[in-house]
Amino acid sequence: MCMDVRKTCVCGKHYVQFHLRDNIMSPEVIETLYCPDCSRQAEENDQTMVRDNNWLIEYDMELARFLAAANLQVPPDSVTPLFLFDGGYATWKEMYPGEQKDILEERKDIMGLLQTDPQEYLRRINSWNISRVEQLKADGWRKAQAA
Ligand SMILES: [Zn+2]
Repeated sequence: MCMDVRKTCVCGKHYVQFHLRDNIMSPEVIETLYCPDCSRQAEENDQTMVRDNNWLIEYDMELARFLAAANLQVPPDSVTPLFLFDGGYATWKEMYPGEQKDILEERKDIMGLLQTDPQEYLRRINSWNISRVEQLKADGWRKAQAA
């Protein structure tokens, strides 16, 4: 079961979906979300925050350590913001916020081929996928580095 966990950023412009792997963490672990606009006002703290390009996620580390100790038997000092994000325990649902919207937009042209030339469609969609992931890596998105 995957809960639908969403959080609005501080300035209210973005409403982002999160993934909590195995529901080890609770939604309250994600304390504050800063989008590229509101992160400029934020005071960065790598003890409680993770940065993904210009986005910042601030975690309730006390709660995260408690839940990790209870459910994963992980010692508190190894529970860091990067552990939560890179381990998938409290991370973006998408590769980066807004990915699905971008995908629909970019795929529009290729989708037209589905009716007229299915083989060309498959060829184009595959190469588009590969170059898309390469681009996300180049852009520095954390989740894309592992893809
Ligand atoms: Zn914002």
